[in-house]
Amino acid sequence: MTQRILRLLAGLSGILLLALGLTCLLAPAGQLDQFSILPQGNAGLSTIRGDLAGLFFGMALFALRGAITGSAQWLSVPGIFLSFIVLGRCLGFVVDGSSKSAMQSLAVELVIIVVLALATMALRKRPAPGNSFRFFVAVAILLVIATASSVVFQKQLGLILATRTLERNFDRQLLATLPDGLHAGLCGSGSPLADPTRSGPCIAVIAGKHVYIVDTGDGTARKLALMGIPPGRIDAILLTHFHSDHIAGLGDMMIQRWGGASHTEPTPVIGPQGVETVVAGFNQAYSLDKGYRIAHHGEATMPPTGSGGTARPFTIVQDSDSSQVVLQQDGLTITAFAVHHTPVFPAVGYRFDYKGRSLVISGDTAPSAVLAKYAHGVDVLFHEGLQTTMVAAIQHQAEGVGRKSAAKIMADIPSYHTRPEDAARLAQQAEVKQLVFYHTIPPLPLAYLNATFLGDAPRLFKGPITVSKDGLLVSLPAGSTTIAMRALL
Ligand SMILES: [Zn+2]
Ligand SMILES: [Zn+2]
Repeated sequence: MTQRILRLLAGLSGILLLALGLTCLLAPAGQLDQFSILPQGNAGLSTIRGDLAGLFFGMALFALRGAITGSAQWLSVPGIFLSFIVLGRCLGFVVDGSSKSAMQSLAVELVIIVVLALATMALRKRPAPGNSFRFFVAVAILLVIATASSVVFQKQLGLILATRTLERNFDRQLLATLPDGLHAGLCGSGSPLADPTRSGPCIAVIAGKHVYIVDTGDGTARKLALMGIPPGRIDAILLTHFHSDHIAGLGDMMIQRWGGASHTEPTPVIGPQGVETVVAGFNQAYSLDKGYRIAHHGEATMPPTGSGGTARPFTIVQDSDSSQVVLQQDGLTITAFAVHHTPVFPAVGYRFDYKGRSLVISGDTAPSAVLAKYAHGVDVLFHEGLQTTMVAAIQHQAEGVGRKSAAKIMADIPSYHTRPEDAARLAQQAEVKQLVFYHTIPPLPLAYLNATFLGDAPRLFKGPITVSKDGLLVSLPAGSTTIAMRALL
């Protein structure tokens, strides 16, 4: 009976490996997020279709053959392959540092290894209980020694780990690894509502060698550095509007850029009329800190002329088809257009065009026909989203515990944001290729909640939809139609 169950589980492992092989072979682009990789053109896709699919097919073949015929030898082969994969992964944790998605992959691999190992032992023609017992004792002793060593030498091992992590991550050159094209990194996918995993709104747009930041929500400078995009490399910051959640991190972002590369010019801050007030306010608020930084680190490191920001305002007309080309540089065109965020005025979205690739960032807006016009045919539309059914639940809860102001705010906010269903309808009408939600309201601590947040959106937009998290990198290589996604955090 145990043998049958284990053969069944081994067979299921084989089917899982077979499915992974098939998806790598037939839909390699869809596996990029799964494996956190970015292919280098057709050669990269060929690697996924060939090397990765081949590895999975081989393991699946051995696992399925072993499960069907009851052969322990066949079953042991994928187990050995997976053991080497786990070894490599563990080495990566020590040398490169760990990540949540790598830990999840490790957990799945360990489960399959255990299933295959147990099935292999159960199917042996001549069981050798003595050998198995000695093997398990040896493994147990090794585990005890490893655990004890990690406790006794924790300080020393911690220093080695910290040094290795620094060596690998301190000067991460993400930008140098990106192919020429348009890239967008979510340095903040959240909204004003408290979210343990999402910073305030922020999208880093990389066009060729230039880096632009759209909105600077709370905590976004730190998130940007974690993603391997040095704040010192920022060319300019663009603001969509001046709600606090979109500017709360502006001071920090300007400080990090100044000190990050000893800039001698203030950070250009591009925005609609009113940006002068915001920048002047931050410059004033950080004027004492500026003095401290220069006194402590010296003028060579912190040039006095490079602190703070310089406002670069443009004029946009409310409630009209008003737009402005706000920047043209090295093949990149950034166009601002008016959106509907009443009573907030001005409020704009931005369109980026670079070498035939394009993206639009909605900023905060109610459903906007103007946005649909400027988003027409773009590769990716980054749109805000507010799910009214979920916000209504928060309102109901706030009323229930007597928090009248919170209930009132929840009742008010749907009027100047967009339901995911409306954004999907708009994306379909504009024929965008991919829709990415950011500035999600309410917070979505579990990916399981994404379906509730999206509601009927997948039915209304025929293309792919992504609910973004901080660290998502969307890549649009020049000279291709590829839309690649990977998690940097
Ligand atoms: Zn907002
Ligand atoms: Zn807003």
